[in-house]
Amino acid sequence: MIEIKNIGEYLKVNKIMPSVQRVKIFEYLYTKRNHPTVESIHKELIDEIPTLSKTTVYNTLKQFVEKGIIQIINIEDNETRYDADTSTHGHFKCIKCGIVYDFLFDNSDIKINGLDNFDIHQTHLYIKGICKNCKN
Ligand SMILES: [Zn+2]
Ligand SMILES: [Zn+2]
Repeated sequence: MIEIKNIGEYLKVNKIMPSVQRVKIFEYLYTKRNHPTVESIHKELIDEIPTLSKTTVYNTLKQFVEKGIIQIINIEDNETRYDADTSTHGHFKCIKCGIVYDFLFDNSDIKINGLDNFDIHQTHLYIKGICKNCKN
């Protein structure tokens, strides 16, 4: 994914006012890269920003998605996760430890039938299974 030196500037370039909360939320996503949910971001940042509400986290993430600087991962129906890496990559969720791993694939690796003359803007590849750490 792209290297970001100054998160405040990065938000400004993407037409987002860099409030302390927005900078902290983006910084969390960008540095941890653990595909967090609204709840886990809120839990991690509440000590640092006691005024932070879950609604603010949710609305901030929604804005980031709209501006295209993060992407949504819907690997589970009942769980929305967020990813600051918007490049095309796949997600593997371990059904034992719950960790979501990134993996790389190339669009040319996937044979798609039935979409001739369509423009593809996004490709999501979700795989579930058991990771190598849980297998041992
Ligand atoms: Zn695992
Ligand atoms: Zn990812």
